[in-house]
Amino acid sequence: MRETSTVAENETPKMALFCRECGHASELSDDWLLTEAEGGYWIVCPDCETAVISQPVFE
Ligand SMILES: [Zn+2]
Repeated sequence: MRETSTVAENETPKMALFCRECGHASELSDDWLLTEAEGGYWIVCPDCETAVISQPVFE
């Protein structure tokens, strides 16, 4: 893959998440919406509001 953008020269963040629906990609700590729900956390895409991943609560 070749980058044509000059916006960012960062390497891909290690903890990056990727949305299958709209292609949004960023770090987990960036702009993903963390929704706390019964049984765990949902990580929701800020662009298309698709739940990308759900994570169980570790106790
Ligand atoms: Zn998305």
